[in-house]
Amino acid sequence: MTRPTRADLNTLRHHNRQVIVDIMRRYGSLSRAELARLTRLSKVTVSEVVDDLVAEGYLRAVGLGTADMGRKPMLMAFKESAGFVLGIEVAPRIVRLIVTDLMGDIVATFEESVVAAAGDDLIRALCALISKARNHLPQSRYGLMAVGIAISGWVDFAQGVVVAAPNMTWAPLALQERLASCVHVPIIVDNEANAALAYEHGHGILRDVDHAVYLSVGYGLGSGMLMNGAVYRGHKGMAGEMGHMVLDPAGPLCTCGNHGCWEMYSSEKALQRMMSGCTPALTVNEGDLTHWAIQQARQGAPCARQALRAVGRSLGQGIINIANLLNPQTLVVGNGMVEAWEFLEPEMMAVLSQAGLSATTQDLIVTPSPHYQDAAVRGAAALACDAVIARI
Ligand SMILES: [Zn+2]
Repeated sequence: MTRPTRADLNTLRHHNRQVIVDIMRRYGSLSRAELARLTRLSKVTVSEVVDDLVAEGYLRAVGLGTADMGRKPMLMAFKESAGFVLGIEVAPRIVRLIVTDLMGDIVATFEESVVAAAGDDLIRALCALISKARNHLPQSRYGLMAVGIAISGWVDFAQGVVVAAPNMTWAPLALQERLASCVHVPIIVDNEANAALAYEHGHGILRDVDHAVYLSVGYGLGSGMLMNGAVYRGHKGMAGEMGHMVLDPAGPLCTCGNHGCWEMYSSEKALQRMMSGCTPALTVNEGDLTHWAIQQARQGAPCARQALRAVGRSLGQGIINIANLLNPQTLVVGNGMVEAWEFLEPEMMAVLSQAGLSATTQDLIVTPSPHYQDAAVRGAAALACDAVIARI
């Protein structure tokens, strides 16, 4: 039998640390004996790892547990405030930033309007916002540990490059590399629908679901796919751009260069186009459009009602295609247009119920995201948090 190498031992040690950190984050507080039982590691190994993690500031003693006889055991807990991460969402008109601890609890929130005509403008704006957030970090041992960024567009996940963002003018942009000039911690860049999906799967309504699709219906239409419990990213991390499936080659021109993309019928952009001839005429900025349309529709304005219903029907038609292609258990609708759910849902469901005998739509659960406005930014923070935990 060959002796284990130093590399083997380091791998084993890292694995044991990861197992213990994972259990501690899930269970709250545990004694060393309970940890040994749950992890099936030896008591000696558990004690060694726990002592290291306490010395490094990732675990802390939180008091004595109970015992039938003999000494009461010391309970340990994960120290969520050992450091902090930033989650950032770059949307077409706005940048949102949250600061979370290592359990994903939000400790500060920032928002800034951004009209980035060039990549340089965006990098400058992000660096300024990150610096501002840094000044608001609570005292901690490690300070800022990672930054996660969710962005509306095609993202090369492995390289941290925004390859194209049809609703923004500055792409392509090597975001990870460019931000390294002002941020000296790991930076993770992902598509906003993937980030939102990852959040819902890890912490939200998809926690016990293995096959799901997240539709991000905002100014554009993005999507993320969960297959066998993992986010499906495709060859270069850019899978899931369902909003750019061409439905009608003779349809309106999309920002991606094609005509008649699904996004042109199922998004705020579609709503804007459909309501351009409405009376009263549009009097609001793009960002407030959905809200304005809902107010008009609630007051009975036929044009706003028709436009919202048309978006709902188009969503339903696309969802039938998704159901037939991927057979998800749950389809979550998120982002800004969820605010109009009362108008979208009846039309969507009417289309789905008329889908004939399609077995894929009969059991499909279609639900709005309870975190629809901030799932992407929370997802960005969760990606950053995962990167930190993986390095412990
Ligand atoms: Zn398109």
